[in-house]
Amino acid sequence: MLVFDNVSKVYPNGIKGLQNINLTINAGEFVAIIGLSGAGKSTLLRSINRLESITTGEIMVNNRSITNAGKKELRKIRREIGLISQQFNLVKRSTVQKNVLSGRLGYYGTLKSILGLFTKADYQRTIDALESVDLLDKLHTRSDELSGGQQQRVLIARALVQQAPIILADEPVASLDPITSQKIMMDLKRINEELNKTILINLHSIPLARKFSTRIIALKAGEVVFDGRPELLTSERLERIYAKTIFDEVKGIAYEN
Ligand code: ADP
Repeated sequence: MLVFDNVSKVYPNGIKGLQNINLTINAGEFVAIIGLSGAGKSTLLRSINRLESITTGEIMVNNRSITNAGKKELRKIRREIGLISQQFNLVKRSTVQKNVLSGRLGYYGTLKSILGLFTKADYQRTIDALESVDLLDKLHTRSDELSGGQQQRVLIARALVQQAPIILADEPVASLDPITSQKIMMDLKRINEELNKTILINLHSIPLARKFSTRIIALKAGEVVFDGRPELLTSERLERIYAKTIFDEVKGIAYEN
């Protein structure tokens, strides 16, 4: 479903966001991407739908190169990738219904999009999606009247009406309390299992990554330093991904001084 072939990303300031990434993600996987802040998690996720361009290598989505896709092809491929991200948030002053419907925009030309000409089927999909995340009662509510957790669920509903087989979630539970975080993760797990969506999620929480994912990929300085089933992520390995880095940094500062 997703293939990273020797992908590297160097930012204009010289920072290596990604280094020699080789990954194959299969349909139906629930992948948690972990690592320290600055490890490259967002860069990895955003490179999948080309919100971030890569410097070398190639990314394939369902056997098509998103790296080399022209404008029209890019639009088509992006339809297949839902994004749940705090940066690409809801239009706060619009209703929940409008925000979820906007998941259909990738299927329409510019004019139809501007006019907001949605079909009956689109409205029905919106209702179904909101029902599946238990938010149908908020259909006509303004999005800025919702709690953080409810807003994340609207984003999930939007990804569902988009009917994308791949869903990328960039720290969707970062600013939520533990109970709400669990609920959001359970929603994602359910759509992963029931609708066979392939899910890639950036997470700060190791316990959540362990509990919900089928595969954990750990990044450190833009490189994959662990890739495997959650139960293989031993405390020793975790130390290498997290603590040792901090230790090295502290040591570095000590030496510099
Ligand atoms: P994470 O999501 O794991 O916190 P990021 O992917 O955001 O990591 O960042 C990876 C590295 O790339 C970091 O060192 C970060 O400072 C750098 N970086 C991210 N975005 C940019 C940018 N637009 N310009 C320059 N450097 C960037």
